[in-house]
Amino acid sequence: MMDPNHFLMIMLSRFELYQIFSTPDYGKRFSSEITHKDVVQQNNTLIEEMLYLIIMLVGERFSPGVGQVNATDEIKREIIHQLSIKPMAHSELVKSLPEDENKETGMESVIEAVAHFKKPGLTGRGMYELKPECAKEFNLYFYHFSRAEQSKAEEAQRKMKRQNREDTALPPPVLPPFCPLFASLVNILQSDVMLCIMGTILQWAVEHNGYAWSESMLQRVLHLIGMALQEEKQHLENVTEEHVVTFTFTQKISKPGEAPKNSPSILAMLETLQNAPYLEVHKDMIRWILKTFNAVKKMRESSPTSPVTETEGTIMEESSRDKDKAERKRKAEIARLRREKIMAQMSEMQRHFIDENKELFQQTLELDASTSAVLDNSPVVSDMTLTALGPTQTQVPEQRQFVTCILCQEEQEVKVESRAMVLAAFVQRSTVLSKNRSKFIQDPEKYDPLFMHPDLSCGTHTSSCGHIMHAHCWQRYFDSVQAKEQRRQQRLRLHTSYDVENGEFLCPLCECLSNTVIPLLLPPRNIFNNRLNFSDQPNLTQWIRTISQQIKALQFLRKEESTPNNGSTKNSENMDELQLPEGFRPDFHPKNPYSESIKEMLTTFGTATYKVGLKVHPNEEDPRVPIMCWGSCAYTIQSIERILSDEDKPLFGPLPCRLDDCLRSLTRFAAAHWTVASLSVVQGHFCKLFASLVPNDSHEELPCILDIDMFHLLVGLVLAFPALQCQDFSGISLGTGDLHIFHLVTMAHIIQILLTSCTEENGMDQENPTCEEESAVLALYKTLHQYTGSALKEMPSGWHLWRSVRAGVTPFLKCSALFFHYLNGVPSPPDIQVPGTSHFEHLCNYLSLPNNLICLFQENSEIMNSLIESWCHNSEVKRYLEGERDAIRYPRESNKLINLPEDYSSLINQASNFSCPKSGGDKSRAPTLCLVCGSLLCSQSYCCQTELEGEDVGACTAHTYSCGSGVGIFLRVRECQVLFLAGKTKGCFYSPPYLDDYGETDQGLRRGNPLHLCKERFKKIQKLWHQHSVTEEIGHAQEANQTLVGIDWQHL
Ligand SMILES: [Zn+2]
Ligand SMILES: [Zn+2]
Ligand SMILES: [Zn+2]
Ligand SMILES: [Zn+2]
Repeated sequence: MMDPNHFLMIMLSRFELYQIFSTPDYGKRFSSEITHKDVVQQNNTLIEEMLYLIIMLVGERFSPGVGQVNATDEIKREIIHQLSIKPMAHSELVKSLPEDENKETGMESVIEAVAHFKKPGLTGRGMYELKPECAKEFNLYFYHFSRAEQSKAEEAQRKMKRQNREDTALPPPVLPPFCPLFASLVNILQSDVMLCIMGTILQWAVEHNGYAWSESMLQRVLHLIGMALQEEKQHLENVTEEHVVTFTFTQKISKPGEAPKNSPSILAMLETLQNAPYLEVHKDMIRWILKTFNAVKKMRESSPTSPVTETEGTIMEESSRDKDKAERKRKAEIARLRREKIMAQMSEMQRHFIDENKELFQQTLELDASTSAVLDNSPVVSDMTLTALGPTQTQVPEQRQFVTCILCQEEQEVKVESRAMVLAAFVQRSTVLSKNRSKFIQDPEKYDPLFMHPDLSCGTHTSSCGHIMHAHCWQRYFDSVQAKEQRRQQRLRLHTSYDVENGEFLCPLCECLSNTVIPLLLPPRNIFNNRLNFSDQPNLTQWIRTISQQIKALQFLRKEESTPNNGSTKNSENMDELQLPEGFRPDFHPKNPYSESIKEMLTTFGTATYKVGLKVHPNEEDPRVPIMCWGSCAYTIQSIERILSDEDKPLFGPLPCRLDDCLRSLTRFAAAHWTVASLSVVQGHFCKLFASLVPNDSHEELPCILDIDMFHLLVGLVLAFPALQCQDFSGISLGTGDLHIFHLVTMAHIIQILLTSCTEENGMDQENPTCEEESAVLALYKTLHQYTGSALKEMPSGWHLWRSVRAGVTPFLKCSALFFHYLNGVPSPPDIQVPGTSHFEHLCNYLSLPNNLICLFQENSEIMNSLIESWCHNSEVKRYLEGERDAIRYPRESNKLINLPEDYSSLINQASNFSCPKSGGDKSRAPTLCLVCGSLLCSQSYCCQTELEGEDVGACTAHTYSCGSGVGIFLRVRECQVLFLAGKTKGCFYSPPYLDDYGETDQGLRRGNPLHLCKERFKKIQKLWHQHSVTEEIGHAQEANQTLVGIDWQHL
């Protein structure tokens, strides 16, 4: 082999650098000659390149035949260096590795040895992370690194070392020995020319003047020194008796230069440099070199081979180390104090920021954020027995509420007579709770929504991002959005993620899709409940009689009004005929207490709910408007209760602010809406709702109690009641009415449960001796049995009955607790705020119910027996009991998305056997699975297009209209892609719940790894569905990616 000195001389001349390293004062000379800047920089680059080449020549031994390695070592090294840049997903890593002639990377066989697999979270991908013990094999000058990769890797490795509180030196790794043929290459490192080059560059760094050196030059020299030290160390470790270690780098760098230059030794220069303030980044590396130098020296001394002459280096190094240690400590102390000060400043700033941007923070809270710890802004009430409704309702001190408009930043108090403040809101139809997907509103113009069927087949859901604006600020904002949109459409014919013509807009703060606003209100009952607290309130029986009389009087008057006027005399005669109940003044019309602006917003939101909920043209006069408002309130509460129960969350646990605000505003809005509706219309609704439980002659075609959702009925009755009660001056308080309505509906619900309770023996035996509830419910069941003419099946035990009543009624009680809580503002009892198995007793106390619910029947047996009898005599109930029809059972189970197979290939098989239902046996090109009902559809194809509202739509869009009232969640089987659709114009793709073994999705099935179901991701999709967030998700996706807006979603 060539003499290393000779080799390096050739190299220097090839790089045209010979001159530089043979001129002793090169550095000094150029410091004064600024004009040569370009030349110097060019030389610097050449020097850097040359050093790099030497590093490669001596260091790159990872090919079998060059170094003593095998193919596995080679691939391991590649992986280690790729993962040193950052953790990588499987596909990324595969792409970054060199392939062999068989297109194999060989990665699978070794990956376990060098990396940990980190499982994917809900959104991310599975990632490989470098094992910490492999970090020492990192080589900054790895020859497959690009410049950018090198600097990224350097940064990442330093950062990791800092996190581990290690020094940040990145010394060269210990290398495998060369094969014998190349073994002498290492001598380049200890050749005189190499030492001269190192010495010269270090000298330039010590002088630290001008442009004659660069940091990266120095870094390479330090790396080369490190390599030489590692080499020597290894030689010493593997030394055998008969061999003398010929690699003596440590000795050579300890020697000072010879006359005439008398330059200091490389070691001495390194010691000087380690304290140079301008070399802070390289300090740890220099320190590492000095430490390794000492270690090597010690090894050499203890080894039998030639002893090394003592140099003063060690002592210098030692003392400067101590000094440096003290200095570091002092600096650390200063840094700590400064950090503390900054932290204090920052937390102060943060507090300000939170104060100023409250809504922003509220909005970022997710439903499952356990940290949210929303403060119940109801005042603290000391009494622990809190009652949400009725004459004994816990009195909540009036509290003032101040809110800030996100548009003009002005603060305002929420008051009855002030300008309206509104929340951005999104109303949508929903079938999420539906128990009957085949049912949908046929003719919306004629549809009567007064009674919600217990199958909850189509509800109206309201959500809000919780951002508050002045009504007039919102109006101005909305008008400008509209104007802008019109101009834009004329010009560009572009779509947006929101449909302005349908009243949609994005919340100005969080860009959440909205289509209306809800006014913020104080508890409305307090406004109408001024004349209350009469000590002598009627019991349920008396109250029902009074209300029945009032209803009768009203109906009489209505009839009078509708019949042609035959002269005033007859009219007054009839008035005399009619005995008005005491204190009832049907001619009285209460004054609306709200400001014009609030009234306007009550109408706006009411009309929007009506328009969206029924899919009709807006008409604020339509008598169904108030019903839709009550219905949306009831449906939204029910859907929240379902989510909380499914997730085992406490009813009054920390709800995210935006949900809390939404439910509060929605409930209070629904309770105040009657003030802007026609009084007689609302009274009419009340009478009809009331008649479904307390029959009277004028209403005959009403649904039987099996076909009424009792919570919707409760909300409707309670919220319509003030329209009747406001004309009653007999002294019955609103609270009394609420309580009686609630008790009456609860009893009807219990009868509903008993009539439909499953009689299957589930093999569980009763544990305790018969308790009070059990004997009471058994007695009630016997009464029912009697009224139904023994059609009701014999029930085995009171224990089973009580169990099914309790389980069946709980969701209703929970919904009622939420409803009255938001309606009346009574704080929730602390017991229901924490998770626990059962809060049945606490719920009953809060709702002013006896713990033994059957007591309600006993206390009011006088009227209840006749009511139960009338309910049971209904022909539909009879048909049900005779098995001629079905009915909903309680508790209703939560709807879930369909069960997906664990192995994706079985879905592919299922889809490949699926043929287009319309073109007789042809295979469908884009088989698409509805995740809500499990239907397989032939999507994106002309064969299955149908007409919907006068437009051609694809099978998916058509399906969403019946299955999800416009919203759909699909899996495109061939693409392994989740598709969200909303209406005809909105859609987006969503990450599928199938992952390969490396935690990655394979959208488009390009990689073809086996895919398995990821339950967590599937649950996340289900949660989006339960939370009614699919449309919002599409909105955000479309805002983020405008190309999604242009896709013709309706053709899918
Ligand atoms: Zn404003
Ligand atoms: Zn918002
Ligand atoms: Zn479906
Ligand atoms: Zn087809």
